[in-house]
Amino acid sequence: MVNKDMQNLGENRSAIRELFEFGRLRKAELGEDSVFDFSLGNPSVAPPVAVGDSIKRHADERGIHNYTSAPGDYGVRTQIARYLRDTFGAVQTPEYIYMTCGAAAALTIVFRALACEADEFILMAPYFPEYTVFAKAAGARPVVLAMQEDCGINMPALAAAVNEHTKGVVINSPNNPSGAVYSRAALQSLAALLRQKAAQYGHPIYLIADEPYREIAYDVEVPYIPELYADTIVCYSYSKSLSLPGERIGYVAVNPVATDAADVYAAVCGAGRALGYVCAPSLLQRVVGDMQGVTSDVEVYRRNRDLLYNALCEMGFRCIRPDGAFYLFVKAPIEDSEAVSEHAKQYGLLLVPGDSFGAKGWLRIAYCVDTDMIRRSLPQFAKLAADYRLI
Ligand code: PLP
Repeated sequence: MVNKDMQNLGENRSAIRELFEFGRLRKAELGEDSVFDFSLGNPSVAPPVAVGDSIKRHADERGIHNYTSAPGDYGVRTQIARYLRDTFGAVQTPEYIYMTCGAAAALTIVFRALACEADEFILMAPYFPEYTVFAKAAGARPVVLAMQEDCGINMPALAAAVNEHTKGVVINSPNNPSGAVYSRAALQSLAALLRQKAAQYGHPIYLIADEPYREIAYDVEVPYIPELYADTIVCYSYSKSLSLPGERIGYVAVNPVATDAADVYAAVCGAGRALGYVCAPSLLQRVVGDMQGVTSDVEVYRRNRDLLYNALCEMGFRCIRPDGAFYLFVKAPIEDSEAVSEHAKQYGLLLVPGDSFGAKGWLRIAYCVDTDMIRRSLPQFAKLAADYRLI
């Protein structure tokens, strides 16, 4: 007898992974050029050369492959804290940073660190589907706010959803899957509401800022959230900004001036221990320590965004114009987005239905792919548009 919830999770892949695996088989069958795989957020841009140099430089250092201290190497945490202070004016200190295996581990740790019995975490549709998995695994209840048509923050729904059980709100800007970047004004309103609700219920409401796409934005400001709301815990990853998703490296940063910050950080360390997430990969810690302020060439994503967004709009698709990340969120031409995703497969187009993002009737297109593949895919999108009489 095994844990049935876990068995279920293991047997049912996410919609994104399902499509990605389908694409792998189709490519083997039909050839690479016949499949337009827009399923996965795997960066197409190579990591900066400096990453390779740093790996080589550190690889032979004495003791580099040993365990670091459980929350991560103190020198690396110091480099990160200094960067956050210099760049955003943050009050971050190394003592409140915990190195993790990417944002997934950071989020898992934070949910586990905060969740007490009957606690709720609010998610805003459209949202990264694994949030529900992580929150439930921590014994908490995810509460989903309905999506706004422009993919902004649904403030009325948020005001109605917060209650005495609300422990935290998850925010992801730039957003996967919509590409939305919340403005400073929108975040200030959110912060004001959470402060008011926290005072009303007499306990802190933590903002969990999931930020793997912080550096991937096109001509818009990405405000640093702890500066606007003290009770923020940042979950960061180098998967996208340095194109290192397979290397599994990121961190949790508890704001040192958050309510009960010392307890929260101790619980983060405890959750890391309970989940077996101590000592993130040692070599990669040193590498990202060196890479503060360095990113992959995100201009490629801007070119892809412009090409795809303009072409699809011209074909009659209704799209959210992405200000950041590398996803285009498209209104499905009929309500049943799963049926559209199925139909698109005959043209080799792999588009993720919005259902698992809490956005039925939408499709996600990951445009972190070769620009040439986007160009070649446009006639296929035109066929799809014609089938639904958009053109
Ligand atoms: N959060 C969001 C919004 C994501 O899009 C992803 C990955 O695509 C993650 C978290 C997980 O990232 P990581 O690779 O750092 O675990």
